[in-house]
Amino acid sequence: MSKEVIITDKIVVACNGDDLKGSNHPKVWLKIKETEKFIDCPYCERRFSYQPSKV
Ligand SMILES: [Zn+2]
Repeated sequence: MSKEVIITDKIVVACNGDDLKGSNHPKVWLKIKETEKFIDCPYCERRFSYQPSKV
């Protein structure tokens, strides 16, 4: 199964996993580094991809 990628326009995201998939975990805040443009949640391995909405 491929890794879940969540697109966000925020530099700080909250993740508490996915109840439906049984990968829920305590809520954590993840800060995306502007140099990397993404961050992987250390708990459920979701990837948050930073894509600013304004052009
Ligand atoms: Zn997570």
